[in-house]
This record gives sequence, C-alpha cells and structure tokens, in this order.
Amino acid sequence: MCRLPALLLALSTAALCSDLPAGVHPKPGRLTIFLEKIESATAATAAVIRSEVAATLETAGVDVHWHDGRGEVQGRLAVIRLTGSCMPVFAPIVSVGGFSPRTAEALGLTHVTDGKVLSFAEVRCDQIRKYAGEAIVRATHSEIERQTMLGRAIARVAVHEVYHILLATTKHGKSGIAKASQTPEQLIAARLNFAADEEQALSASVALPSESVGATVGSLAYASGEDSESATSVRR
Ligand SMILES: [Zn+2]
Repeated sequence: MCRLPALLLALSTAALCSDLPAGVHPKPGRLTIFLEKIESATAATAAVIRSEVAATLETAGVDVHWHDGRGEVQGRLAVIRLTGSCMPVFAPIVSVGGFSPRTAEALGLTHVTDGKVLSFAEVRCDQIRKYAGEAIVRATHSEIERQTMLGRAIARVAVHEVYHILLATTKHGKSGIAKASQTPEQLIAARLNFAADEEQALSASVALPSESVGATVGSLAYASGEDSESATSVRR
C-alpha cells in the first residue's frame, strides 16, 4: 500500500503506485454484477458461477461486487440474466459414429444499440446445457461434479459477455475467454482465463467512469463453435 498526499489521490493512483514491490498490485477497480434468475440453477451450480466469475475477473484486475437488487452500484455495472433452465439435466448421448451436425445457437449475448455495447447480457442455460452437456456427462458420473462443470460453463459465457460490456467492444481476442467461441471441453475446464492483453484492458476499464445505458434493440451473440460471431446467431 503506497502512501500519497490526499490531494494526489484524485489523480491516477495506479500510476502513482507503480513503484509497488514486485507481486503487490494496486487495489483492483470494482464491477457490480446483478445476476438475474440465478435461482434457476442449483445452489452448488450457483456457487460455482459466482466463484468462477469472480476469480476469472479478479485475475484480470476486476473486483466483483454482487448486487442483490438493492443498495448502491459500486464501480461499473453489468446486468446478466440467466435464461432457460440452469439445472444439471442433460439430453442422452446419441452415438452417431462419425460426423455429427449441430445446430448453430448462441450461448450468450450482449445487447447493442446503434453500435454501442450496453451493460445488459443474457446467458442461455438451455443452449449451454445442450452444447456442453455431452462433454459433462462423459467427463464424470458424479452429480456434484456435473453441477460444478455446468457452473463453470455458465460462468465462462457470463465472463465473456462481461468482457464485451467492460470494453464496450464487439471485437474478440485471439485466445483465452475473449475468443469468439470455445469448445465444450474449454467451457468446462478447470481454468480458462483472459490473454494478458485483455487482462490489462479490463483492469483499466474498471477505472473509467460508468456510462449510461439506453434501449435494447440489437445483440451480440457468443458462439457455440469455432467461427466468428454475428448479430443474432452463429454458424458452426
Ligand atoms: Zn463475444
């Protein structure tokens, strides 16, 4: 913790504290997340969603504050709604013995209007269960582990949308969680972080003043495959 005259605290604390000892980072900027419909997940899955989102963003220099619909918003704001059922129910695995065509469906989306990225996003549990379900079922027979993996997948989609919101961008990174799409295995893996460039940008973004939000007329979809995103859905 560096000590500064009170007058200088109004300036860039991060820059002024750049002589902190190695391994000691300035206090991260704050992001308030209002997670709507979290009750559509089990308690175990909900706990994993919160812990994974917070841990991934903390690594990127963003301190997450969970909003419960009351009280003040601290720092930037992201409103994320879980849609569909987030319960650990997966369709039976159907062996096709070869090529398996899959339907192109967005796993999540962030709303955009007039080219401006808003602070509202959707995370689509039904599509996530459909996309990652097979990988989850194959990975473990443990019910609690399946709930954990589903929580990770939901959290990764949520964090990806937070990336769009905080950086106010429709663009994607070349690697890590800011990529336009992930494989099912990447979504449920133990760790999936941002690339270093995106972590720096996210850390800087929470130091900026929050922006007002407007009407929702468009969207930015998070792909369920390896191709790039489009306005409402993607092709795998
Ligand atoms: Zn995206």
